[in-house]
Amino acid sequence: MTPDVSIVIPVFNEEESLPLLFARLYPALDALGRSYEVIFVDDGSSDRSVELLRFTVAARPDNARALILAHNVGQHLAILAAFARARGSRIITLDADLQNPPEEIGAVLQALDDGADYVGTIRQFREGVWWRRFASRWLNSIREHTTRIHITDQGCMLRGYDRRIVDAVNRCQEVSPFVPALAYTFARRAVEIPVKHEARVAGTSRYSGYGLARLNFDLMTGYSLIPLQVFSLSGVVIAASSLLFVLYLAIRRLVFGPEAEGLFTLFGIAFFLMGCVLLGLGVVGEYVGRIFEQVRSRPRYVVAEFLGDTGESALAPTTTTGSTTRAQPS
Ligand code: UDP
Ligand code: MG
Repeated sequence: MTPDVSIVIPVFNEEESLPLLFARLYPALDALGRSYEVIFVDDGSSDRSVELLRFTVAARPDNARALILAHNVGQHLAILAAFARARGSRIITLDADLQNPPEEIGAVLQALDDGADYVGTIRQFREGVWWRRFASRWLNSIREHTTRIHITDQGCMLRGYDRRIVDAVNRCQEVSPFVPALAYTFARRAVEIPVKHEARVAGTSRYSGYGLARLNFDLMTGYSLIPLQVFSLSGVVIAASSLLFVLYLAIRRLVFGPEAEGLFTLFGIAFFLMGCVLLGLGVVGEYVGRIFEQVRSRPRYVVAEFLGDTGESALAPTTTTGSTTRAQPS
């Protein structure tokens, strides 16, 4: 039977959050009065998360399924692993840490019912540490200016997608995806709605500062060439002004003879230019690295085990390239 709604939840070391999530998620979904499936994706957890997922799949064989990935591939690839298996005509993503209240799922579904094919969300009264809020606002504004993707609040993963959008996403083979941005590029009617936001129920964010920086680079390099163009254009401006500066120095040399003063100014200028070159190289490297990963075309994730109803979606593409799915009916 094809469920009306698929709920996709990536899980990475969430043993403390999961029992609380189960306690709120299922009643919230039952209250909607629609058929649904929940697809949990364990993203290489090293704690008791897999055990808890086994428990919930056994307890709710009609609604719960779980994919156990062989190793940690990151939240977005984990979501794509579930997209390939999702059967619902509407697909909703949610975090496992209860920062996105399950009670808000109804509002996202309502927006889809009203004709949207992509539903983004904007967190009201955002929870979280101040520097994350600040960095997120700053990165949001850079992304708004460098890509054509309009996502007011890129950090909130409670989102809804129509089947058609998920089918299009499933046809992509990106190795560094940012799911909402990728989906947005296929949307015809994208809307955003406000949703409540809560503090993480347990533990701290699974993203390190480095992980967060990588994710934002994925977002910028995956959907725009503007970072490269900024460097090529500033390269032109810097080269032109350096030429003028050299001409000026040459004229001074002819008029006043050799001068030693201003040595440190020159050092300063040289270091600034070296800094620009290194930064530019770094940006080029970010693109080249991703191209390298893409052309290697290794499996993006490996499914070690599948828990629950194994009835694969007829629409699931064979894009897991080499995944060793071991189906295990509950
Ligand atoms: N997550 C994941 N793989 C990772 C990091 C995170 O599947 O490598 C999951 C995590 O379990 C949670 C969701 O992605 O369900 C969001 O992660 P987190 O709450 O740590 O991120 P934040 O809220 O700080 O953006
Ligand atoms: Mg969170």
